[in-house]
Parts: sequence; structure tokens; C-alpha cells
Amino acid sequence: QAKKEGKNQYAFYNENIKLTTHNLVKGEKDLAAALQREEFEVYFQPQFNLKTNQVFAAEALVRWNHPEKGLIFPDEFIPIAERTGKIVDLGYWVLESSIAYLAQRKLDNRPDITIHINLAPAQLSDFSLVTRVKTLLTKYQVPAHLVGFEVTESTILTDVPLAQKILHTLKNMGICFSIDDFGTGYSSLSQLKQLPVNMLKIDRSFIIELESNEDDQKIVEAIIAMAHKLNIKTLAEGIETRKQWQLLEEFQCDFGQGYYVSKPITAEAFNQGNLIVHSE
Ligand code: C2E
Ligand code: MG
Ligand code: MG
Ligand code: MG
Repeated sequence: QAKKEGKNQYAFYNENIKLTTHNLVKGEKDLAAALQREEFEVYFQPQFNLKTNQVFAAEALVRWNHPEKGLIFPDEFIPIAERTGKIVDLGYWVLESSIAYLAQRKLDNRPDITIHINLAPAQLSDFSLVTRVKTLLTKYQVPAHLVGFEVTESTILTDVPLAQKILHTLKNMGICFSIDDFGTGYSSLSQLKQLPVNMLKIDRSFIIELESNEDDQKIVEAIIAMAHKLNIKTLAEGIETRKQWQLLEEFQCDFGQGYYVSKPITAEAFNQGNLIVHSE
């Protein structure tokens, strides 16, 4: 009896695998078609200087305008894009769209800001990223210092020496780097020594309860102090309240982004927005 059940289970397991592979292939085709039909859109979330209240940068965050399902958020398709390898094409598309947006801002005489773009592991496992960045900067006549990349510590783990070589080459061109989601996952302080890091993005999980949780306050203060000793800037992610903003300013955190000031918005909305927050 047990044997029979085992056999059934095995068959069931097998079927599941087939189903998953089938879905993946479909997912890859969907993503490729969506790229071709230009259904993706880059949204921008303003990033503020906490002292001056001015926007100095924006994070590029991709969305999918699905013809039937409506607006789809990255958590639903980035993992599929990563598993199928489509993230490389999608990543380049986000890169080109962001650089094109910087060029358009210049034509419109808008103030310079930096655009911070999220990099996926597959993009840091291929040296051609360097050539493609160079080509795009030349094509759109955009200076390298207006482009920044956000990497998580796990992003570089596929091939550490190659990722380091890519990062150092881009850094020498004038591109800046942030460590995203700092304090979570594979956080390792030794990477701060080995990577050319300009900024730490303190993960939202430390900000959520900042007002009430003294441990979070101490951790955040310590991260900021450590970063500053290493000449690295700090940015707090996910600021949702005025009190959080004020605490972070008190702690000498340099920058912040979050729903308190603005969600990620379309380029059009970003252009219409006020680039300064008036805090009474
Ligand atoms: P991330 O890079 O850590 O981006 C921050 C996420 O937090 C964004 O979610 C942003 O909308 C959200 N966020 C910002 N402020 C607040 C806040 O005050 N409260 C809350 N609850 N959330 C806030 P989003 O846009 O859904 O992106 C999720 C993740 O998807 C990103 O996390 C990033 O890892 C990935 N992603 C997005 N765009 C790209 C892309 O172009 N390429 C790659 N490789 N990954 C991307
Ligand atoms: Mg990010
Ligand atoms: Mg983040
Ligand atoms: Mg995050």
C-alpha cells in the first residue's frame, strides 16, 4: 500500500515539474512579446536629500502595462525574467529607457538628477554590460555621473571576480554604485572593502518600526556612522511617515525615499512634480 502511494506521489511530483517548466516557457515567451510590444514602462521614485529636502536622484522601477491584467509590479515578473534569462534583455531596456529619459530632461532644460538603476545578477556576469553602457551614454550624450547602479550583495555572488572587474571598470567611467537592501540577505561587511561603493541603501525593514523600536534606531545609527567613516553616503528606503523622516535626519542619514513623499511615478508625473518638499 505504502509503495503504491509512493508511486502515486512520484507521478504527481513529475507532473508538477512538467507544469512548472511549461509555465516558465510560457512566461519567457510572454516577457519577450511584452518587450516587443513595448508594454513595459519605467517609473521613477524621487530620492531626496534629507537636509535640503531637494530631489537629487530617482530610482528606476519597471512596471508592466499588461493589456488584460492591467498594471503588474516587478515582484510578479522579475523572478520569472531572472529564471528564464529574459532579465538581460529587460535590464538593457530599462537602462536605455532611463538614459533616454536623462537625455530628454536635458533637452527640456530640467535640472540634472542621477538615475539609479537596479542590476540583476545575470547582468553582472557578462562583461558586455560595460560596452553597452558606453554605447548608450555616447548615443544619448549623457554624462556617466548621472547614471548609478543599485546592486544587492547577492547580485555579485554568481562570479565575484568578474562582477568586481565590471563594477571597477564602470566606476572608473564615473558611474556610482549603491548597495541595495543593506542589512539583509548576504550582507557582508568585507564587500564594502572590495567593491567601489558610493552609497548604502538601508533596507526598509529597519525603517518600518523606527519610531517605536529602539534596536532598529541603534542599528540604523550604527550603519550610518560606519558608512560615513568609510566615506560612503546613506539612503533610507521606505520612509512612510514624517516622524521617520525627522529621526533619520537627526541620525545624519544623507538621503531618503518613500511613500511619505512619493511613490514611484511615471516620467510624465515626475516632470510635473515639485522637486522640493516643503516640511512645515
Ligand atoms: P528595490 O530595488 O529594493 O526597490 C524598492 C521597492 O520598495 C520598490 O518596489 C518601491 O516601489 C518600494 N517602496 C519604495 N518606497 C516605499 C515605501 O515607502 N513603502 C513601501 N511599502 N514600499 C516602498 P517595486 O517597484 O515593486 O520593486 C520591487 C523590486 O523589484 C525592487 O526592489 C527591485 O529589486 C526589483 N526591480 C524593480 N525594477 C527593476 C529593474 O528594472 N531591474 C531589476 N533587476 N530589478 C528591478
Ligand atoms: Mg533598488
Ligand atoms: Mg531596495
Ligand atoms: Mg528592498
